Amino acid sequence: MRPEILNPLFAEVETLPGVGPQVAKLLKRLDITRAVDLLYHLPTGVIERVRAKSAHSSLLGSNVIIDLKPFQFRQPRSGRGPTRVFASDADGNTVSLIYFNNPGWAKKSLPMGETRTVSGKLEAYGDEWQIIHPEVLPADKGAELAIREPVYPLTEGLTNKRLRELAAMAVERAPNLPEWIEPSLAAREAWRPWRSAVAEAHRDPGSDDPRRRLAYDEVFANQLALMLLRQASRRHRGVALPGTGEIIARLKLPYQLTGAQRRVVEEIRGDMSQTAPMLRLLQGDVGSGKTLVALMSMLTAIESGAQAALLAPTEILARQHHATLLKQVDSIGVRVGILTGREKGKARESVLMGLADGSIDILVGTHAIFQEKVAYKNLGLAVIDEQHRFGVSQRLLLAAKAERPPHLLVMTATPIPRTLTLTQYGEMDVSRIDEMPPGRTPVETRVISEERLSEVVDGLGRHLAAGGQAYWVCPLVEESEKSDAAAAEERARILRLRFGDDKVGLVHGRMKGPEKDAVMSRFAANELSVLVATTVIEVGVDVPNATLMIVEGAERFGLAQLHQLRGRVGRGSGKSTCLLIRGQTLTEVGRARLALMRETNDGFRIAEEDLRLRGPGEILGTRQSGEVAFRVATANDVEELAQIAQDDALILLDRDGGLSGPRGQAARTCLYLFERDQAVGLIRSG
Ligand code: ADP
Ligand code: MG
Repeated sequence: MRPEILNPLFAEVETLPGVGPQVAKLLKRLDITRAVDLLYHLPTGVIERVRAKSAHSSLLGSNVIIDLKPFQFRQPRSGRGPTRVFASDADGNTVSLIYFNNPGWAKKSLPMGETRTVSGKLEAYGDEWQIIHPEVLPADKGAELAIREPVYPLTEGLTNKRLRELAAMAVERAPNLPEWIEPSLAAREAWRPWRSAVAEAHRDPGSDDPRRRLAYDEVFANQLALMLLRQASRRHRGVALPGTGEIIARLKLPYQLTGAQRRVVEEIRGDMSQTAPMLRLLQGDVGSGKTLVALMSMLTAIESGAQAALLAPTEILARQHHATLLKQVDSIGVRVGILTGREKGKARESVLMGLADGSIDILVGTHAIFQEKVAYKNLGLAVIDEQHRFGVSQRLLLAAKAERPPHLLVMTATPIPRTLTLTQYGEMDVSRIDEMPPGRTPVETRVISEERLSEVVDGLGRHLAAGGQAYWVCPLVEESEKSDAAAAEERARILRLRFGDDKVGLVHGRMKGPEKDAVMSRFAANELSVLVATTVIEVGVDVPNATLMIVEGAERFGLAQLHQLRGRVGRGSGKSTCLLIRGQTLTEVGRARLALMRETNDGFRIAEEDLRLRGPGEILGTRQSGEVAFRVATANDVEELAQIAQDDALILLDRDGGLSGPRGQAARTCLYLFERDQAVGLIRSG
């Protein structure tokens, strides 16, 4: 249970004085629903103002505080254009105050002939001087305007001033929390106590230090949670599964393992031959051959008399794995079953029975395979493919449940930089496949301006005429599933006009699972030639005949995402092409990112560069990095602090594994503060 000391912070924003449903609704748009959200809604910079007696060209571009007397009010004709209020300064210069909305407000706050203190950025507009949407105060209150003022991320309808007041109330509520940071670390970094850091971060974000301490808290909570997960996952002993090599010897492969595959298989075997359950993350770019590594690991488990389970994120991927495995191992006497939401009645019964009596060696399926009712005779190894939908909370559940935990192998094709690996999978050991199977032709990537869309469609036509298949990916439109779907529908409609209704399939996020699966299967069976999709294209699906990938609005995707999408092609022996269609206006960074895609097929390099291009100020959200999102820590903070935080967490757990001493208790508070409540449930008792 959350400690009482945090209760005031976790109360709804409506409990703050002066906050009614109206303001609460506006705050919700900023993801602020409780006092603690306000507390961590930190200013991103400061605005510096200059007090001036009168306007002057040397002040253009600066934020000024200036006394003005309005003398003329001009509302736009026919409702277009801004409202202008002309005002004069002490020297008789004219400054126009511009309002793009709310003329009523302008009229009320700037009565003719009365002096007001006005603040905002002084700009030149032709021969005129103007200030757009100035802050306005009665002249006798003008002194209250701060020369340095923190600037908050805003939403329409909430001014910076209002947010400052709200934040101040939240800070007011902040209790003195016990210190969870190792004293020597806090001393070395000269970090102030939590409450003081919070207050300072809101007062003057120009000095970066207070915010950095708050970022550390967050990274520490993240690492402590992961170390607790590691501790809990290994609390119970598993079973050593060294394997004998006899089943693997019977396996007939049309090719040799790559050096990287061989090394990784050895690492996994090393883990599995111990009783401490394996916790291993296998990173390997799309097409690097992870499935084979999974197979070798599963066969090792079976050689030692255990069962193995392979979890896929979607029905269709599960079926694909199942089919591949059957081909590879049915003839050598290894029995494979499948269990998804679709297996019902008799089929389901018989799989469940096979698992219970041990006549099924490998179970492939969707999340159904870890459900309560599925009883294994002897589950020794769980392999999780394309984990990014198998986040920390699911791992927590798995760890909490198992009495005799299976060895765990998590496989991901999302190449992420090392520091991010630490924050997402810090509890795991990491193996990397850094070598591609021989004979791959790298996907050729081209960046094309959307002005040339019709050429792209012509090219698609030639590709289809030659018997090829293609993906056409439409971008996310402002995070709204509705408009995404609409854009994809429109694209599909246009392509259907050209290529025929029965040639073009469509999948998007608003379709139901089975509906999506049906379209995907038809594409996989070459009944459809073009698959138009939003980013819901199922990860890992293998359609070797699809060798053309077209991505519309490419600049709007994350690089990791683009790389993932590109991985859908280049899976056969033929040459594959990826066309990135970009909008007409591109930022510098956008250009650099697309150039990088053209230049390299190396997912890890793309991931590292992507992080670099994202810049130090950017907070790590859920968008690219999977489930763990940060609200304070930036990519830079994580880079610098994750290792320190992990060491700190490990030392703490080493000294006080039950987190019962004073610092341990404080660390619990930190976990709750960042809502790692589930992790608290993993703390060793006694
Ligand atoms: P991913 O890592 O994306 O899951 P897969 O396991 O699906 O990659 O492998 C991609 C393709 O490469 C498959 O068709 C597989 O048969 C093939 N493959 C895997 N390992 C090798 C190898 N050592 N030599 C040649 N081809 C391989
Ligand atoms: Mg795969």
